[in-house]
Amino acid sequence: MTRRLRALKNLAERPGTVAEGEVARRMYEREKAKHPGGTEYNFSDFMRSGWMDEPTICNCGSTYTAFTKCENHARHEQIRAEIKERFPRGTRVYYNKWAYDANCTATVTGYPDDPRLWNWIKVKFDHLKSGYRTIPIHSENGWHLSTAPIEDPAWRKVLREGME
Ligand SMILES: [Zn+2]
Repeated sequence: MTRRLRALKNLAERPGTVAEGEVARRMYEREKAKHPGGTEYNFSDFMRSGWMDEPTICNCGSTYTAFTKCENHARHEQIRAEIKERFPRGTRVYYNKWAYDANCTATVTGYPDDPRLWNWIKVKFDHLKSGYRTIPIHSENGWHLSTAPIEDPAWRKVLREGME
């Protein structure tokens, strides 16, 4: 990660206001996706470019025009099928997403029928008394569900969108 990209990430994680944080977070996620190799990136150039005109990143990793929908249905169906292969019913899994504890333990219980929930799965969380939930498990960052705990705190922080 470049120094500038890291600075934007820090802003996204420690904003002055909620709105500022949200804008910075979206900017950062877009930049991160555009510079996966950590290419040198100039913040002032980016500010001049107008972030509202930038494409939006779908949970499948594709970009699409802001205020429309991602049309990469083939990729959505591919991920939907891969979810069933990777995480059969009864699999013990670890979830890393901002609203949950790190490596939150659960068991796979099924898959949503609704094709619009192509990146979601049904689980029973251990820590919740009535723990049945339908949760999103794939984003532009990759898989938020795994069959072993994510040990690397830096990667876990990316998956949990800054939480650690
Ligand atoms: Zn998509």
